[in-house]
Amino acid sequence: MAAAASASVRAAMPAGQITVNGRSYKPPRRPTVAICVDGFDPAYLQQGLKDGILPNMAQFVRHGFAATARGVMPSFTNPNNTSILTGTVPAVHGISGNYYLDRRTGKEVMITDASALRCETILGRLSQAGVRVAGVTAKDKLREIIGYRMKDGIVFSSQKAKDATLANAGIDNVEALVGRKTPDQYDPDLSYFVLDAGARLIERRAADLLYLSLSDVIQHSYAPGEPEANAFMTEIDRRIGRLVELNAVVGVTGDHGMNDKSRPDGTPNVIWLEDVLNARFGAGAVRVICPITDPFVRHHGALGSFVRVYLRGDQSRIAAMMATTRALDGVELVLTGAEAARRFETPPEYEGDFTVVANTHVVIGSSAVLHDLSGLKGRRLRSHGGLSEQHMPFLLSEPLTPAYAAKARRTEVRNFDVYDYLLNGIAAA
Ligand code: ZN
Ligand code: ZN
Repeated sequence: MAAAASASVRAAMPAGQITVNGRSYKPPRRPTVAICVDGFDPAYLQQGLKDGILPNMAQFVRHGFAATARGVMPSFTNPNNTSILTGTVPAVHGISGNYYLDRRTGKEVMITDASALRCETILGRLSQAGVRVAGVTAKDKLREIIGYRMKDGIVFSSQKAKDATLANAGIDNVEALVGRKTPDQYDPDLSYFVLDAGARLIERRAADLLYLSLSDVIQHSYAPGEPEANAFMTEIDRRIGRLVELNAVVGVTGDHGMNDKSRPDGTPNVIWLEDVLNARFGAGAVRVICPITDPFVRHHGALGSFVRVYLRGDQSRIAAMMATTRALDGVELVLTGAEAARRFETPPEYEGDFTVVANTHVVIGSSAVLHDLSGLKGRRLRSHGGLSEQHMPFLLSEPLTPAYAAKARRTEVRNFDVYDYLLNGIAAA
């Protein structure tokens, strides 16, 4: 097959280690790919292995390396993708939600660019050192963070594939590259397109270090073992196999897990926290911010298991408000903003006056009138954001060096260690 020819990277690769945010990385000696399967709950892997539908990931488990890793809190897309890209925690990189309240302006802001990013990324830094890099994301909201300070790199989203030009993406004619049209934002092809584009870039020898980030639309809608979920995982696995055929070193992890957040009758299990606190403490007493809010609302209605509460006016009631919140059925943890920043390693200025985390099967909304749940179309709500969605698989196509095998036994594996393990921890890389 044509694949075998693309084994080596170009000759002008930099020698030595490159330091990014206090960690050092060896330049790739073979095409190296980190994949972030969005919403990759460990249950999808377990179920898929049990059902025998994931032959390539099964191969990683048997002959490469497999662990269950922990991501960063809150267990949302932007903080975790940014951690994987920077190799560090939100307190360093600056992104602790998809959506936040800017205390200085009082405005609510959706993160769709890199303006909140406050450190270098691994792809950006390695590209400046001469490594040829590429990032492909399902969700366009991550494109600017992935492409941050990239030199001569390629970066585009499948969501807006048709808009990619040499000037804005380092590549044009992406639809021709992949061989089909730009997918709809809620189509599972949004993820397949990303992996197919990655394989094409390696076939063309256009990049040696890649980041491929998928979408969790399917996981929000279907539990492990449901036909739609199994079909999706089968397609992902097949494409991972193609990257291995191309002699790439492949790491597969996720940004967060996913859990069923519905009552037995199928209705969403929601605490409308802004309504509860305003009813108890007076209209307008608090504003509840849901950091899961993003341009993909149809499948989760902006409901996750982590919110930040901002008091309006009288701050003396914070203890009473926290006590009221703590007593609600389904609340797992209530922390002051400062406590949350310390415990979750987030930037303190982006925390609220207090932070609330719901348990495995509960989500927290602001006010019922502000959330549109019609997109669920009667399906059970599945979502993330809490401590219960902090874990994801961490799979490598090849075995670790003895030093890294020892490290993996000694220290907890984090999803944002994936480039460290890929570039420094695999003998054949
Ligand atoms: Zn996600
Ligand atoms: Zn999600």
